[in-house]
Amino acid sequence: MNYQELVNVYIDLDNTTKRLEKTEIIANFFKRIGDDESISNICLLILGSIFPAWSDKEIGIGDKLLTQAVAKVVGVPPSEVEDNIRDEGDIGLACEKLFSNKKQTTFFSKTLTIDFVFNSLQRLAEISGNRSTNKKISIITELLSLSSASEAKYISRTIIEELRIGVGEGIVRDAISQAFGIDKKVTERAHMLTNDLGLVADVARSEGESGLKKLTLTPGKPVKPMLAQLSKGIKESISEMGEALCETKYDGIRLQIHRKKDEINIFTRRLENITAAMPEIVKLIDESLPHFDFIVEGEVIATKDGKPLSFQNILHRVKRKYNIEEAIENVPLKLFLFDLLYYKQPMIDEALIKRREVLEEIVDTSKDEMNLSDMIIGTCDNIDEVENLFNKSIEENHEGIMIKDSKEPYIPGLRGKKMLKFKAEPETLDVVVVGGTHGVGKRGDFIGSYLVALKDENDDLKTVAYAATGLDDETLKYLTEKMKEYEISEKGTHVIVHPKIILEIAFSEIVKSPEYEAGYSLRFPVVKRIRKDKSLKDIDTIERLESMYKP
Ligand code: AMP
Repeated sequence: MNYQELVNVYIDLDNTTKRLEKTEIIANFFKRIGDDESISNICLLILGSIFPAWSDKEIGIGDKLLTQAVAKVVGVPPSEVEDNIRDEGDIGLACEKLFSNKKQTTFFSKTLTIDFVFNSLQRLAEISGNRSTNKKISIITELLSLSSASEAKYISRTIIEELRIGVGEGIVRDAISQAFGIDKKVTERAHMLTNDLGLVADVARSEGESGLKKLTLTPGKPVKPMLAQLSKGIKESISEMGEALCETKYDGIRLQIHRKKDEINIFTRRLENITAAMPEIVKLIDESLPHFDFIVEGEVIATKDGKPLSFQNILHRVKRKYNIEEAIENVPLKLFLFDLLYYKQPMIDEALIKRREVLEEIVDTSKDEMNLSDMIIGTCDNIDEVENLFNKSIEENHEGIMIKDSKEPYIPGLRGKKMLKFKAEPETLDVVVVGGTHGVGKRGDFIGSYLVALKDENDDLKTVAYAATGLDDETLKYLTEKMKEYEISEKGTHVIVHPKIILEIAFSEIVKSPEYEAGYSLRFPVVKRIRKDKSLKDIDTIERLESMYKP
C-alpha cells in the first residue's frame, strides 16, 4: 500500500477534532487494508510510533539531525530550515512548505510504500556506533527525497515521534472494535493485557473476538501498573471496601520484575527497562524466587545504615549506566514486593488476597534486602491497628499507607477506587495563574479553568497545567473577579492575565508533556487554596518539579 494513502488518512484525521469521526476514519481505513499488508505496523504508524507501547525502544532522532537531512534534500542551508520551523511552529509544517517550494530536480524513482517507510524507520532506530550520524542522515535523506510535500510533513513528524494528529490509544482501540465488529470490552482487555495495539489489531482481523480473548499477559513484556487514588480517610476507605490489605507505602521506585525462563527484566512504572542499572536486584530476585515464569511488583528503596532514604536518593541509580558497582556499595537497595501478576500462569484475575497468599508462599525473605510489604488486614473492627501502621510508617520515614480492596483483581493501567493511598501530607506546588478559560454550563459566568505556571532558573514563567477542580462557587467568583482585574488580553473564551494569583495545587502524578512549556504536566490537579500570603517570588520552580518526578 502506498504511504500516500496513509497520509490521506492523517489529513482527514487532522481535519476533525471529533473523537467519533476520528474513530470512523481509522475504522474505515482498517477495513480497506489488504490481507497482505501488516495492519500491526499501520496501527503503530497511526499512533505515531514504530514500536509497541511495551517496548522502550525509540527512533532517537533529534531536531538537529532531521534539520540537516531536510536541508540536504531541499537544497537550502540548515539555518533556512530552522527559520521555517520557527515561523511555522512545527517541523512537519515547515517541511511541507519547503517541499512544496522545492524545484523538482529528480524524477521519483519509486513511490513510497508504507512498508518501505516503516522499515526505514526501523533501520534508523537500530543504528548505533561509528559513523552512525552519517548513516542516519543517509536513511532520512533517502526517505525524504522520495517524498511529496504532504508525505514529508508526516514522515518528519514521525521521525521525531510527534505526529500530532490527535489520535491516542483509546481512539485506535475503538476503531479496531468498529472495523472488525468486536465488543469494545474484549478489545480493551486484550489491549490492557498485551499493551500492544498492533498485535490487537492483527489478531482482531485474523481471528476475531475469540482470538482476542486468548491474548494474555506475557512475562518479558511490561504492562501498565495499576494506580492509586487518594484516600479521604482510613476509616472511610476501609468501610467502603469491607476488607482491605493495608500496607506501608514506601517512598522509592516501583518495579515490575519479570522472569521468563532464565531471563530477568526490571521495568519502571513507565515501562522503561532498567535491568542493566540494577544487577543486584536481578541477583536478589534470582536467589529469592522459584525459577518459574513470573511477574512481581514491588517498591525498591535506598537505605543508609539500614534506614530508608527518600526516592531522590535512588534516582541516580535508575539512570546510571557506568560505575554501577560503586553505586551498589554507596546506596544499598531494599526491595518490598507487594503484588503478583503472573506465576506459571496469569494471576491478575485472582483476588488480591489470593495473589498475596501465593506471593508469601513463593518469596524467600531470608535475605535482608528481600521483603514483602509490611501488611495487615484491615476491617471496621481494627481501624486502630491500621492507624498504628500508618503512624509507624511515618515514624520510620515512609510515606504513609496503601489501602487495597482484598477482593479485587489486578487491572493494568487503572487508577480506580480499589487501591488507595493515604499520605501524611500530599505533596503540593505553589503556582501562579497566567491565564484561564471561561466555563461552560453551570460555570458559564466564571473562569472555570486556570492555566498555571512555575518559574525556571531564569525566573521565566513556564506553564504546567490547567487546574479546574477543588473550586467552590465562592472561590470561583472571587477568582473570576481577580482575573478581570489582572486581565492583559482576551481571545475567544481564553484570557491572559498578569501573574498575580498564587494557588497551592495538589496532584496525583507528574508526567512528561510536550503540551506545556515546563515539559511536564500535573495529572488531576486540585486547587487546595489561594495563597494570598504568597507572591510571585515565592512560587515553586521547575527544578523542584523535576526533583519530584518519579521515573
Ligand atoms: P503515588 O506515586 O503517590 O501515586 O502512589 C502510588 C505508588 O506508591 C505506587 O505506584 C508505588 O510506586 C508506591 N508504593 C509504595 N509502597 C507501595 C505498596 N505497598 N503498594 C503499592 N504501591 C506502593
